[in-house]
This record gives sequence, structure tokens and C-alpha cells, in this order.
Amino acid sequence: MNIIGHLINGEVCTDAARTQDVFNPATGQVARKVALASVETVEQAIASAQAAFPAWRNTPAIKRARVMFRFKELLEANADKICQMIGEEHGKISHDAAGELQRGIENVEYACGVPELLKGEHSKNVGPNIDSWSEFQPLGVVAGITPFNFPAMVPLWMFPMAIACGNCFILKPSERDPSSTLFIAQLLKEAGLPDGVMNVVNGDKVAVDVLLSDQRIKAVSFVGSTPIAEYIYTTANANGKRCQALGGAKNHAIVMPDADMDNAVNQLVGAAFGSSGERCMALSVAVAVGDAAGDALIAKMQDAMKNLSVGAYSDSTNDFGPVITKAHQEKVIGYIDSAEQQGSKIVVDGRQTTVSGYENGFFVGATLIDNVSPDMISYKEEIFGPVLQVVRVATMQEAMDLIDAHEYGNGTCIFTRDGEAARYFSDNIQVGMVGINVPLPVPVAYHSFGGWKRSLFGDLHAYGPDSVRFYTKRKTVTQRWPSAGVREGAEFSMPTLN
Ligand code: NAD
Repeated sequence: MNIIGHLINGEVCTDAARTQDVFNPATGQVARKVALASVETVEQAIASAQAAFPAWRNTPAIKRARVMFRFKELLEANADKICQMIGEEHGKISHDAAGELQRGIENVEYACGVPELLKGEHSKNVGPNIDSWSEFQPLGVVAGITPFNFPAMVPLWMFPMAIACGNCFILKPSERDPSSTLFIAQLLKEAGLPDGVMNVVNGDKVAVDVLLSDQRIKAVSFVGSTPIAEYIYTTANANGKRCQALGGAKNHAIVMPDADMDNAVNQLVGAAFGSSGERCMALSVAVAVGDAAGDALIAKMQDAMKNLSVGAYSDSTNDFGPVITKAHQEKVIGYIDSAEQQGSKIVVDGRQTTVSGYENGFFVGATLIDNVSPDMISYKEEIFGPVLQVVRVATMQEAMDLIDAHEYGNGTCIFTRDGEAARYFSDNIQVGMVGINVPLPVPVAYHSFGGWKRSLFGDLHAYGPDSVRFYTKRKTVTQRWPSAGVREGAEFSMPTLN
């Protein structure tokens, strides 16, 4: 069987002593195997990145940007192939895979502007004949560790900007759907990137722990679940590394009594069930303000959900596909069971969903649960499946208090026609990304992405302007050229311009 290997110093190689099955979630069958890197393999990748760094650091920014221009064209030319790989291993429908790739490409486009982004700051005559400037230097070898749910987009949040800023990169993709990620990284060579600047090590905790401890790695970006994010952040910091670790989510949408209910329902259906709810920005809780809004929401959701189609990635008429693994399918169904046992009402039940011709696939149908309360396990924890829970409250303030009390603060949104209410909400809510009648407020590539509370550990958000700061360190130079014959004596007080 085909074994997916690593990309080290420009070559794909395999250390197949340990491997893991990669499934096609629609069929439930093993599609291929992935090599799990040993300590030695990861060290080899770090050594190759370390060796490539001095030349890449000194390559003019405009030349680094040109690699990104060519890379963008190659991503577009190979889009169908990449989306096919995403579909086979992740299970998302082709139109959704295309959307993921496009959002990833937009990060490459932003990285193409790196000469402008790295221009720095300059002040002339900060003192007599003294000039001062700040410049942004690359860190060296940096690492990224990414989740299964966006095998193309999340890696593209990281390495294009890191590399454009002059760093060398080691990527540890998800071991559950690694093919598209490895293929994308290979395109960089074709785009003209020198060997060793971009490396991929497939693997598990063994590989991650090397990246967290090796002193040659200067920074780690992580995206994944909150318990692992916390581990990554704590360990990387303890080892003296810069780190940003983006974690899980529980995204609430407030549905106000004055909302355009048909529009809210359309938006909620896509944002709750698209990609099987396996998005960190999926809306998984609708908070209905007032009984009338709650009743109307449930009735209209039920209607809208009758037309949803779940199936394999290859049929683009499907709305969403399977979840990632059998174990995850059982976990999602377990959360629905627990909600029922704890007294909520399963209005639309996706637990028994099967797809003709794909009977062994890891499918869960769209599920709607009413009368959910904050003490329920299914409310507290991230389900990461096609499940929308409805909580009913009496006032908007009660809805906001509920959101603020949750441990996660990734994304949220409000559906309303009231500008004053929307403004109060966006100004005060304790969440990092806010939508106003926009269900998935994922920032565009030239802003930055990140949640609050236990959805992000670290000071800087991912991609956009924050990523330029994350992948560089500031150096401030103060310069004077004493003219011949003019020499000043020693000064023992703090220099000032008085
Ligand atoms: P995960 O935490 O299981 O895995 C993420 C990465 O960590 C993978 O590369 C994996 O190999 C590695 N990993 C797993 N266990 C590890 C361990 N014990 N030690 C070291 N490394 C380990 O996450 P996932 O299931 O792949 O992805 C889904 C999660 O990611 C969800 O919680 C979702 O909300 C979150 N996510 C967050 C964002 C965001 O931007 N905040 C974006 C996408 C996904």
C-alpha cells in the first residue's frame, strides 16, 4: 500500500518503521498509510532547514515574494487535484474543499506583498546627526502543527508568510489527512524555493515533542483542540520558544426577535452543518431571545433541514460529507445521546443516517436539539459535528452573559435588524471574531484570525498583519558617524535632547 512520507531537503522520503492508517471517511476503508516520523527523521528535517537558513535569510524580499507568486499560480493550476485529495481523506464535498483552498491561496497572495510588509520604521535626527530605525528580521527555523479539518488552508495560514519573511519551516500536518498538505508543500520546489527552506514531517506526538524541545526551533504555531493547544503553548514557552496555539470553540449565534428569520435560518443551516460541523468557526449553538423567536427558529430550521443532502465528496450536489473517523462519529452520537438523557429535545435526529452505496462511511446526519441548558455536557464541550443546539433566553443581555461565561471565545454572531443592539454586542462581547448577520466571521487574509479565552494561547493572532510580527523579531538600530576631528567625551547620564 502507498505510504505517505515526509519532505526533507526537497526530497520525499519515508521512514516506515511506524505507520498509521489513513481512511476514506465516506467509504470507511483504509485509503493509504502515513509514515510517523521518528526522532531522527525530525532532527534531519531541522538540520536541513538550519542549513538552508543563512542563504534564504539573505535572499532579497522581492525574490522571496516571487516564489510566492509562482506558488499561487501552481496552487490554482493544481486546484482540482488538491481538492480531490482533501475529499478522499477528509470527506468534505468538492465545493467546500475548493472554498478552503481559495481561502488558503489568499494567504499566499498576502505573503506576495512581503517587501512592503517588512519595510520597517525610520526616524532621521533622533539626536544631532543620529538616525534610528527598526527592522524586522526572520527568527530562523520555525514550526507549524496543524489539524485535520483544514488540511490545505490552515498550513497555508502559516508557512507562506513565515517563509516570505525569511524563515525556514518544518510543518507537522494532521496524520489523518496528510496527502494534500504534502502535495502542496512539494509545489514550492517547482515554484523555485531552495531545498530545505520548507520541510514536512508527518507524524504524531513523537514528532511534535521534538519540535517543542529542539533548541534550533525558534517558534511554534499550532492549530488544534484546546487540551493539545495548552500543552503545546506551555511546553514551547518552557523551552524558550515563541508560540501561538489556537484551540477549540463553541460558537454561539444570537437570534433576536426582530431578526430576518428566513435569512437567519439559511445562514445557520450552512454554518452549523457545512463541513459536517467540523470547523472551528461552525455555529453550534443558537441562542433564541424570547419564546416567539425560539418557536419560529425551530419550525423554520426543521423545514430547511428536510432538504439537506449528506454524502460522498465526489457528488457536488451534496451539502456535507462524513465526519473524520469512526471514533469521532461515535463521539458525536454520544453527545446527542447525552443531550437527550439530560432532558433536551432532539427535534431532528441524525444519529441513524446512512448513505446508500456508502454504508460503512462515518456519516452523522444534521441534528437539531431544542431546550439545551448550560449545565449539559453537550453544551459545555465542543462537539465538532453537524449538531445545532438551541438555548432559549429572555433577553439579549442574558444571551451575552451566556456567551461570556463559556470557556471558549472563538467566534460569535448576532442576527438582528437593530443597529444599536448589534453595536452594543460587538463592542462588549468577550469573543475574538464577531459577525453581524454574518454567520462565519472568518477574517480575510489581510486581517488576522484568533479567538479569546481558551480558544487561543499566545499574544498574536494567526495570519494577516499579526503573522508578520509573529515570524519576525524587531531590531532597532541607532547610528551616528562621528565626523573626523570631532570627538565627544564620555557621558554618564542617560542621553537626552535637553
Ligand atoms: P488535535 O488537537 O487532535 O490535533 C492537532 C494536531 O496536534 C495534529 O497535528 C496532531 O497530530 C497533534 N497532536 C494530537 N495529539 C497530540 C499530543 N498528545 N501531543 C502532541 N501533538 C498532538 O485536533 P484535530 O482533531 O486535528 O482538529 C480539530 C480541533 O482543532 C478542534 O478542536 C477545532 O476547533 C480545532 N481547530 C481550531 C482552529 C482555530 O483556528 N482556532 C482551526 C481549526 C481547528
